[in-house]
Amino acid sequence: MKKTIRDLKDLKGKRVLLRCDFNVPLDNYGDILDDTRISAEIPTIKYLVDKGARVVVCSHLGRPKSSYDKYLSLFPVAVYLMKAFPNKVKFSRASAGPDAEAEVEKLKDGEILLLENVRFLEGEEKNNPKVVQELCKLADIYVNDAFGVCHRKHASTYGVAVKLPNAIGFLVEKEIGVFEKAFKSPKHPFVAIFGGAKVDDKISLINNVMDKADTIIIGGGMAYTFLQAQGQDVGKSIVSLEQVGDAKKVLELAKEKDIKILLPVDHVALDGTKVVKTKSLCGEMVGLDIGNATIKMFTKEILGAKQIMWNGPVGKYEDSRFKKGTMKIAKAVSKAKAYSIVGGGDSVSAIKASGCANKIGHLSTGGGASLKLMEGKPLPAIEIIDNK
Ligand code: ADP
Ligand code: MG
Repeated sequence: MKKTIRDLKDLKGKRVLLRCDFNVPLDNYGDILDDTRISAEIPTIKYLVDKGARVVVCSHLGRPKSSYDKYLSLFPVAVYLMKAFPNKVKFSRASAGPDAEAEVEKLKDGEILLLENVRFLEGEEKNNPKVVQELCKLADIYVNDAFGVCHRKHASTYGVAVKLPNAIGFLVEKEIGVFEKAFKSPKHPFVAIFGGAKVDDKISLINNVMDKADTIIIGGGMAYTFLQAQGQDVGKSIVSLEQVGDAKKVLELAKEKDIKILLPVDHVALDGTKVVKTKSLCGEMVGLDIGNATIKMFTKEILGAKQIMWNGPVGKYEDSRFKKGTMKIAKAVSKAKAYSIVGGGDSVSAIKASGCANKIGHLSTGGGASLKLMEGKPLPAIEIIDNK
């Protein structure tokens, strides 16, 4: 068991470096378009504030090129935090170094200092020892609550944890707890739904889930590699040729283990410039959504589930012509009397677009990190945290 902030004693007056994931979408005016990741951090920040710690918060935002980028400043997040914690929040224009140290020096017990985007520091993403040292100078204790980047070995997610006494925050504790429970003691029937476009990254995920799930539903771009593995014509739909062999193995293994695998039986496809509904793809057709019969079949299975895990939209949902399948699946997941977990950047956006987000058991705040957990792989930034 990893140490959590509850295990940290005598926080009063201590400088705590809290790594958050405030990588939120901003518009051109700096307005925050989705505050999920910030609101998810409030309990951890509040706990530290209430204990009288001097809370030094750091995060990345976007992918700056190791230098200042005014469009990727964390200032809008500071404004958000100022509203959540009136009169307690300051913003440091420096991400680390002497100016940030001077700001930390001025902090009183129970106050919060948000540092500027940590990726403005050259070497942050390379876990450069100089960056690690600069960050360590700002704190006595390190707390990692940045679930979305726990699969990354960066200075602020990993290097600092090597050097300082440390713990995980409430969000990371919750995220890893949800996945651990879902795999260790799954509720049956356990239905796993996979989609999206990146078969290469996700086949190991299917392999891991196969040991626990009763039914695996495969839709989206991923389905065509499997349909091809079954010998079907998929027209010009996306197929990962290198994965056809592995897909075949998954299908064979599922048969051996008596796990149901459901693949699309009809499609909404683009044929040249025309959108067509079809049971079988051929020629120039590109399958971009599941068809009505498939929606019906998938929905029936989903409604019978007691536990659902979903990663990957079942169609090109960003295009209104191909979003129906994903929206219907989202509705079915939200209606099912099951504990549901949704992970993956696009999957979570799709759920939010469907208006069903509040009926989902757990919407993971981390795309890549949640995929690693679904694969059953450890996350380096969590592994490095002290055990209890
Ligand atoms: P997540 O971010 O949830 O892990 P992915 O990034 O793997 O999901 O997949 C999302 C992407 O998959 C979306 O951009 C979507 O348009 C695409 N996609 C889904 N179905 C298809 C399809 N049939 N053909 C091409 N792209 C698809
Ligand atoms: Mg994605």
